[in-house]
Amino acid sequence: MSPDKLDPYRSKRDAARTPEPVPEPGPLPTGHDDTFVIQEHHARRLHWDLRLERDGVLVSWAVPKGLPLDPKTNHLAVHTEDHPLEYATFEGEIAKGEYGGGLMLIWDRGTYETEKWTDREVKVVLHGSRAAGRYVLFPTNGKNWMIHRMDPAPEDALPPASELRPMLAEERKRLPRDQEAYGFEFDLGGTRALAVLGDGRARFVGADGAALSLEDHPGLEGLGKSIWGLPAVLDGQIAEIGGASIYMIFDVLRLNTGDLLGRSYQDRRRTLDHLSLRGPHWQPTPWFPGDGKSVLKVAKEQGIPAVLAKRLDSPYLPGVRSPFWARVSLKPAG
Ligand code: MN
Repeated sequence: MSPDKLDPYRSKRDAARTPEPVPEPGPLPTGHDDTFVIQEHHARRLHWDLRLERDGVLVSWAVPKGLPLDPKTNHLAVHTEDHPLEYATFEGEIAKGEYGGGLMLIWDRGTYETEKWTDREVKVVLHGSRAAGRYVLFPTNGKNWMIHRMDPAPEDALPPASELRPMLAEERKRLPRDQEAYGFEFDLGGTRALAVLGDGRARFVGADGAALSLEDHPGLEGLGKSIWGLPAVLDGQIAEIGGASIYMIFDVLRLNTGDLLGRSYQDRRRTLDHLSLRGPHWQPTPWFPGDGKSVLKVAKEQGIPAVLAKRLDSPYLPGVRSPFWARVSLKPAG
């Protein structure tokens, strides 16, 4: 049998160990060369995989910073092995230790048009709900290509972060009964704040939408340089621990150019975990799916003021107090 375009793809994977589609060698399917997918890949290093259907495979690039929105900034796009067409609908967790280990989520999917396709230049128009516009890819050094936006930057791709308000919890006497449907967190108290990251800087917005001064919280501005300077909106609480201000992060509302409000709490928490946000003045709070009893027990033992129960399948509702989030306050130990 003649070598197959998907041989490199197959050689990197063990079909018995990965949830990814691994088609048998054979004739490639015929498509219309008009489907694209962008997957958010929480591998060792977060990146976005751009895949364009072409001649029976998905021609692929790994884009560490995602698609550029501004024509003035080109982003690196590392050419990777062709993927099977079935991959355009793949989402799932690739086991640690396997090739590409980590969570793979579809960031956007749609159709595209080809304006030019040569070894030196790939010019396309993407028609997605998040990724839209004319882009050109060109090689600079071996597998390293650049991706450049040819259209002007879109205006107001997302509502401004200043319109976001923290989601609120209902006060309850006891934990919900169906604990397997919830994730549990410790509520350490502190100042609720959304962190708005961009251009390598961090701004903090309080529960009322007003900007928080960082004068009393030295060190927090360094958060803007985490996640490789990507824009993001995080939710958390500024707690005073050991005489220092620590931003305890428990949610991610926006990442790069993507809005995560409609994603489930579980997906958002997993996304947050994969960002490895741990610095001198910030860290993610732990979360425990399904196990409220243990969390409650530890909270009581440690004198933690409250426990939060958040429905695993719930979206983020800015400014809304709903049964999706419940807080059980604990009496101080006598
Ligand atoms: Mn990847």
